[in-house]
Amino acid sequence: MATGSGPAAGKTGDDTPTVGIVGAGISGLALTHFLEEQGVQTLTFESAARPGGTIQSREIDGRIVELGPQRLRLAGPVKSLLDDLDLTDDLQEGNTNQPLFIYHDEAFRVAPLSIREALTTNLLSWRGKLRVLAEPFTDGPKSGESVEAFLTRKFGREAAHRLFAPLYTGLYGTAADDMLVEYSLGKALERHGIEGSILKAVAPYALKGRDPPPIVTFEEGLERLPAALADRHADSIEFSTP
Ligand SMILES: Cc1cc2nc3c(=O)[nH]c(=O)nc-3n(C[C@H](O)[C@H](O)[C@H](O)COP(=O)(O)OP(=O)(O)OC[C@H]3O[C@@H](n4cnc5c(N)ncnc54)[C@H](O)[C@@H]3O)c2cc1C
Repeated sequence: MATGSGPAAGKTGDDTPTVGIVGAGISGLALTHFLEEQGVQTLTFESAARPGGTIQSREIDGRIVELGPQRLRLAGPVKSLLDDLDLTDDLQEGNTNQPLFIYHDEAFRVAPLSIREALTTNLLSWRGKLRVLAEPFTDGPKSGESVEAFLTRKFGREAAHRLFAPLYTGLYGTAADDMLVEYSLGKALERHGIEGSILKAVAPYALKGRDPPPIVTFEEGLERLPAALADRHADSIEFSTP
């Protein structure tokens, strides 16, 4: 929303357009920050009394408990945001090489994220692994299809249920059969320029091995980041304002 007149533009009383932003979760706060850095006035409306949305850290019995996300990846844009906010020195780095586990058939099993792990994993049967290889011959996302239906059509029922849907569910804190692929996973594929086979697109990375940016958080928990953004832009955020 950009207005040249009305209440939002009235913030400074001149004709400079003010951008209205709905929500002071990390998306709204990051947008507020980047626009303000570029000299654009913003006014952010947050229905809750606190910033951060999904990001909520609590101290319980001397330990930090995250109610939402637990860590950031220190990718380029995140790093420059943390630099801007003088938060880089306070980062706590985690171990990037920890495996991801999926609970299946009464045991925790390592999620196979490399070619070698995919060949040796006991999460999938040989039949399930062979079915994954048929993925390049399947079609892309269809309108109205759930993420779970899409993954099943692409990779077969076994790999979809035991591997891909749990990974997706764990990553987004949601259920793959509740999400429409065109608005969620489909958008992520589009952003990475993946139109045809997912397997063909990710195979070069799987062969090279993973080298993701470090995992980071703060001693007080991840909420430190939205709190710092909200402090920096306190004058342009209205809390308890749906
Ligand atoms: C359990 C869980 C674990 C996760 N783990 C990770 C992780 O480890 N690392 C990671 O990078 N990501 C993780 N994610 C994803 C990440 O948390 C989200 O992508 C991100 O926090 C979403 O931020 P957002 O600002 O888009 O939305 P939200 O955090 O949902 O914020 C939206 C804000 O808008 C406000 N709002 C909504 N409607 C209105 C309205 N009409 N008027 C005013 N205000 C309104 C809400 O009150 C809220 O504050 C996890 C998610 C979940 C659920």
